[in-house]
Amino acid sequence: MTPRLFVEDDLAAGAALGLDGPRAHYLRDVLRLGVGAAVLLFNGRDGEWRATVTASAKRSMDLGAESQTRPQAGEPNLWLCFAPVKKARIDSIAEKATELGVSALVPVITRRTNVERVNVERLRANAVEAAEQTERLSVPEVREPVSLERLLTAWPAGRRLLIADETGGGKPILDALAGARPGPWAVLIGPEGGFAREELDRIAALPGVLPVGLGPRILRADTAAIAALACLQAAIGDWREPTPRRWPDYAGAVERGNLMRGRGEQG
Ligand code: SAH
Repeated sequence: MTPRLFVEDDLAAGAALGLDGPRAHYLRDVLRLGVGAAVLLFNGRDGEWRATVTASAKRSMDLGAESQTRPQAGEPNLWLCFAPVKKARIDSIAEKATELGVSALVPVITRRTNVERVNVERLRANAVEAAEQTERLSVPEVREPVSLERLLTAWPAGRRLLIADETGGGKPILDALAGARPGPWAVLIGPEGGFAREELDRIAALPGVLPVGLGPRILRADTAAIAALACLQAAIGDWREPTPRRWPDYAGAVERGNLMRGRGEQG
């Protein structure tokens, strides 16, 4: 499988890129790529590009972008707002939410949030890695943590909010989403200690809020985030689009240019 890498650089035919540090180490020492090896690159703006390694030195690697393999396509406008949880679980939230197609990850400090520090850089690294593996063409934005009060005060007009309410204040998620329309959405998941009553009341006062239930069991916050995003994507999100056809030999498919496909179109 051709490795995929997220880069910050602009991508165009003939663009030369220099990689250093961990990324050069990864390509050279872990994947054992040498001069002439193929890599796929994306930057969230210019689509996906096929590049080859043009030079490899002790601490750096040079790549040359050659041809576009996929045009840029947007992810759904979908935020995941979640109360931070402990290390392994928050890593998993960043990874899975990226796979599930969120455009922004928003750590929210609630009354009963008992995790004090959020390592935004690590969350971002997890999101980059998941985006590389999942064939995304963008990396979700990872926001600085914000208090629930500030988040709600500055809530953007027109963005609907699906809140996973473990106290039974909402309809079952698919019933709640019946008739709901695509558009900018956000999902809000509470902390391991749950939401406080006043918080649920405050959230309910926001226009466009949809409280939902996720079944009879109390889920861990990370499970609840994944479950709610999957249901939302399946009911009104981009899971309604057909999964693009892929050749079993995926790396070969890239060679043959078979990944030139637009959204919803079969490639
Ligand atoms: N300590 C709380 C549970 C919190 S679970 C209690 O025992 O009641 C963490 C978060 O996951 C919740 O705030 C909610 O957003 C979500 N969640 C978990 N299970 C859920 C369910 N069955 N329905 C809706 N939301 C749920």
